[in-house]
Amino acid sequence: MPQQPLDILRNVFGYERFRSPQDEVIATLMAGDDALVLMPTGGGKSLCFQIPAIARPGVGIVVSPLIALMQDQVAALRQAGVRAAYLNSTLSFAEARAIEQQLLTGELDLLYVAPERLMNERMLALFEQASIALFAIDEAHCVSQWGHDFRPEYIQLSILHERFPHVPRIALTATADEPTRREIIARLGLDAARVFISSFDRPNIRYRIAQGDGGGREALLRFIQNEHAGEAGIVYCLSRKKVEDVADWLSAKGVPALPYHAGLPAGTREKNQARFLNEEGIVMVATIAFGMGIDKPNVRFVAHLNLPKSVEAYYQETGRAGRDGLPADAWMSYGLQDVITLRQMMESSEADETHKRVERHKLDAMLGLCEMTSCRRQALLGYFGEGLANPCGNCDTCLEPPATWDASVPARKALSCVHRTGQRFGVTYLVDVLLGKTDERIQRHGHDQITTFGIGAELNASEWRGLYRQLIARSLLAVDLEGHGGLRLTEACRPVLRGEETLWLRREKKKTRSESRSSRTGRTLPPDADQGLWDALRAKRRELAQEQGVPPYVIFHDATLMAMMEARPSSLHAMAELPGVGQRKLAAYGQDFLDVILDA
Ligand code: ADP
Ligand code: ZN
Repeated sequence: MPQQPLDILRNVFGYERFRSPQDEVIATLMAGDDALVLMPTGGGKSLCFQIPAIARPGVGIVVSPLIALMQDQVAALRQAGVRAAYLNSTLSFAEARAIEQQLLTGELDLLYVAPERLMNERMLALFEQASIALFAIDEAHCVSQWGHDFRPEYIQLSILHERFPHVPRIALTATADEPTRREIIARLGLDAARVFISSFDRPNIRYRIAQGDGGGREALLRFIQNEHAGEAGIVYCLSRKKVEDVADWLSAKGVPALPYHAGLPAGTREKNQARFLNEEGIVMVATIAFGMGIDKPNVRFVAHLNLPKSVEAYYQETGRAGRDGLPADAWMSYGLQDVITLRQMMESSEADETHKRVERHKLDAMLGLCEMTSCRRQALLGYFGEGLANPCGNCDTCLEPPATWDASVPARKALSCVHRTGQRFGVTYLVDVLLGKTDERIQRHGHDQITTFGIGAELNASEWRGLYRQLIARSLLAVDLEGHGGLRLTEACRPVLRGEETLWLRREKKKTRSESRSSRTGRTLPPDADQGLWDALRAKRRELAQEQGVPPYVIFHDATLMAMMEARPSSLHAMAELPGVGQRKLAAYGQDFLDVILDA
């Protein structure tokens, strides 16, 4: 007898109830209609097509652009007892033929296929002979030519609709913006689809952005040691060189860190990625080349040692933390040099003026997010067109509201100093002039004779640098095109320079103990948890994962292990009640974990 969706959720996946809007999406497909699902990372998109694929007669075909992701999902489904397989370039000819045979004889519930394979005529002909439950198009934003993940093969997916008009389709993505959504609908012929848009909030992620002149390496190390020792995380850097330096440096400090960037040999990249997925507590130091298609659920932090180019990029990258819904940190350190570098890159880019304007606007939004003094989550969600009524209580500005100060007078001095020195010097020089240093260069230029020489005693050098950073971030100063870091005035600075506008700025925090005050909050385990039992459960999981050749989280998620710690089940019956324990996993692993708990 065919199972109902709710039974499948409980018996196969071990979850008690659907999250909204999973049930409605599933009902839409069960009724034979199309759906477009926009949900943030970790929202639970997979079940939206996996469950109806199991419940409906025939096999669900899943189009997925990333081989690693496919293999992961298939491994996880098989662990849950679902008849799943994939067809991609990693299979031998004979293996692929065997799976095609299973497709024809109805032995599969789910078949994952790479898009280029799907579009080949032989494959389409096979589908016509088989019974198809639905088509799921994962990462549907890959159809967007303007997006950063564009896949030409995705454009052709509209054929599915023409060849199989009666098979329901579901397209899914975590890319939220309106133009992408319109493009998906138009290109995939989804005009009749029901559209489901979830909130894009990730309440379990704590956003923190700190000022760190000088790279923030030390602060990163303290952050990892204090809050995420032994846990997995990703550290993003702008350049390949910095990736390697930081990975080496962290390793030397005892943090197991590996580098990842497009310049490493493919073998090294694969090896490092496999270790990140299969081991616990690896920190991946990477350029943005890393991350797409990584669905490791227990990444406990994403750190940025450089400023991302846009809020979109920031949100996508930080979104890789805490897919399992447990507390996670998005941590960033940025400084004056970041602001200068990015402004510089933008100004000197080859792009046409329209394009530049868009990029400038995006960078302004990112810098605005960094310098703001109110709730960061409200700003983030607002940027994506979603309102949040109250401050979130789970970002740094909510937890430790920053003080602001009236910076009008010092700002006028700083701007005036740029003006008096001829709008061509960098911050270090300007600060020296303000502080009245008499070095050879300043004397040679006669800048010890100008009115702004030595008028800056009220702030120290690092405070002046912070002030310059904020002036650049707010576009009151522009960076030169030649890349020497020279600053010039912009139109926007006039009112401040003339004293007509008050400038309120974020007060820079001195490096104090306050950093440790909010610490340990991002950790998976509550402070009173039984560390010994946790380690024993994780060791058991690792052992089983190695036996099966799958990543540990495919056996059980951290959330399930934590539920075991809390509930301490004393029978298989009690174990079955825990989230993430379906019938197949209970039978396969229940006793192993029960023994660990009973021995503890
Ligand atoms: P996405 O593809 O949207 O990033 P996933 O499908 O990987 O998200 O799901 C994220 C996590 O949420 C997974 O660990 C999944 O098992 C869990 N999950 C999904 N739906 C439910 C549910 N109804 N109840 C409990 N956990 C769920
Ligand atoms: Zn907040």
